[in-house]
Amino acid sequence: KQTQRLDKILAHVGVGTRSELKRLTKEGAIYVNGVKVKDSGMQVNPEKDIITVNGEVITYREFVYLMMNKPQGVVSATEDNRDRTVVDLLDEEYAPFEVFPVGRLDKDTEGFLLLTNDGKLAHNLLSPRKHVPKTYYAKVEWEVNDGDREAFSQGVTLDDGYETLPGDLKILQTGDEAAGIPSEIELTIMEGKFHQVKRMFQAVGKQVVFLKRMSMGPLGLDPELALGQVRELSVEELSALR
Ligand code: URA
Repeated sequence: KQTQRLDKILAHVGVGTRSELKRLTKEGAIYVNGVKVKDSGMQVNPEKDIITVNGEVITYREFVYLMMNKPQGVVSATEDNRDRTVVDLLDEEYAPFEVFPVGRLDKDTEGFLLLTNDGKLAHNLLSPRKHVPKTYYAKVEWEVNDGDREAFSQGVTLDDGYETLPGDLKILQTGDEAAGIPSEIELTIMEGKFHQVKRMFQAVGKQVVFLKRMSMGPLGLDPELALGQVRELSVEELSALR
């Protein structure tokens, strides 16, 4: 569509709610192409028309792309009756964009989570046919060994009978039950079944006690992001995703 309601666009970029925009209009703070706006519901072309609010040019964008280092204890959803969601962690400025998480991490899983309102990109990344690789770091009780690596490289059978695609298992540190030390591993999988990493280890008789997603497709978790922090993707990161 070429034109949209001005108040909708301005709400989208976070200038204010519709009622705040009515007030700004009354105050004569909004201009389109140099002409003072009388009706905040007027139609404008956000690609062409120059909109200013209090003298500042508004740059319009439709989509946002956020990388979050998800902490434990929040759910990967937009709304939840009981728990805080990843969307609750976002700055207010993102509220008008109505972003959602691309795929899910368990409540007790940390790490890389993409949030966007670009449904097409999300759909592509989640499509089972695309086999977008996801790499996880995990602590596993107890000894993860070459036998597990071999099993994962063939694919394992989950508790519901599903045969996974091959997974690439790297053993970073071999655990020791007697010493109470879990194994540390990295596992790359090309699909995203419910609780997949935990259930793959269950399939070889082992238990994941800590799980963090380190990357998704071409994007790695920014080590500068503390748990619960968010930043927008760079232009390079976004084009790598597409
Ligand atoms: N696999 C899991 O078991 N949990 C996650 O959150 C992600 C992958």
